Amino acid sequence: MFDFLRKKKITKTPTKNIRYQVWVRFKENPQHQWIFNNSYIKRSFQLFLEKLDSRGLKFLNENKVNFVYTNGLYSCTLTKTDESFNIIVFPQLVKLFQSANPEVGVAILAHELGHLLHHHYERQIAPQTAQIEADQYAIDIGLINQLETFLRDFSDHPDCDYRLRSLEKQKSQ
Ligand SMILES: [Zn+2]
Repeated sequence: MFDFLRKKKITKTPTKNIRYQVWVRFKENPQHQWIFNNSYIKRSFQLFLEKLDSRGLKFLNENKVNFVYTNGLYSCTLTKTDESFNIIVFPQLVKLFQSANPEVGVAILAHELGHLLHHHYERQIAPQTAQIEADQYAIDIGLINQLETFLRDFSDHPDCDYRLRSLEKQKSQ
């Protein structure tokens, strides 16, 4: 696990190299201090970075994306300022990072990044369609089961049933 953190290996492939670069920038971001104050949270974000495909890495490499901790009810939301994106992380999600299955929380991070990859911050799109597109990114990077666990057990969002049905349809194909 976390191969990309081992310096020796990072020059092997461009993807590994960019993964390491993204991690270094991620760590140096002063907004991310809260992540490094807790080993479980840190591990979850390492896992997230390890899972990302070239598309996700490219986005994080070329844009300023802050993961900001805030007290509140919902698992995650997005805001965009002129020069950066904020993914808001709520206590519910942090609890998942500290659970026995942190990958469920990682699937939520992937979902949020999916919103950014699909430019939902600037597109006119039906909310349910946006949710499905964002879920697709978590599925694309291998987190379909973790996403399913979240939608079944951890969420009381109104879109959950819809998302779950869409996910089941994909699994059965
Ligand atoms: Zn969403």
